Amino acid sequence: MKILVVEDERKVGKFIENALSEQAYTVRHVTTCASARDALAESPYDAVVLDLGLPDGDGLHLLRTWRDAGFNEPVLILSARDAVADRIRGLNLGADDYLPKPFSVDELVARVRSLLRRQTTGQRATVIEHKGVRLDLLSRMAECDGQPVELTTREFALLELFLQNPRRVLTRTLIAEKIWDASYDLETNLIDVYVRRLRRKFERPGAPPFIKTIRGTGYQLA
Ligand code: CA
Repeated sequence: MKILVVEDERKVGKFIENALSEQAYTVRHVTTCASARDALAESPYDAVVLDLGLPDGDGLHLLRTWRDAGFNEPVLILSARDAVADRIRGLNLGADDYLPKPFSVDELVARVRSLLRRQTTGQRATVIEHKGVRLDLLSRMAECDGQPVELTTREFALLELFLQNPRRVLTRTLIAEKIWDASYDLETNLIDVYVRRLRRKFERPGAPPFIKTIRGTGYQLA
């Protein structure tokens, strides 16, 4: 598993690199947007740890260009900017998780592991389908009425959870446990952000949203 760490504070970057290397990940540490762009263009990575404040630009801009270019591997944002607005913006741009600085390196390693695990163990040789929404768990492809839909790792995991429980009301606690493990803070509205993202990606003109809000409880596939 190869991980790209984009962090301009050399000490912090080195610290992360050492911690992840100890877990047998192959780590490349870069310190600028330009070198991050080059690294990702040169070779594939299984995940990216991305600092937002970089000397030659904004990590969020970098994230957007990657997602626009079809890079779908998990991205964990790392930033001193812990304001909710920045967090939401990062998630809306396709980040899979967000860790405010200062963070414990153990937590960082746990979250990276969780993102990667979700990506590799979810693979079963099955296809699940619901009202024109089709999820291939082996190839990790999603389709809506035959059209491919790009999903991040977390979006895919959440959609899979909904499709595998078509008649069940999924409580926020259950979604948090299944999709975010212990790292989820119920005070944040991360789940709502992700549901909104899925609705947007699978909405059809004139049709009701395919995920219903069950007031005060959670969500259910429509
Ligand atoms: Ca920085």
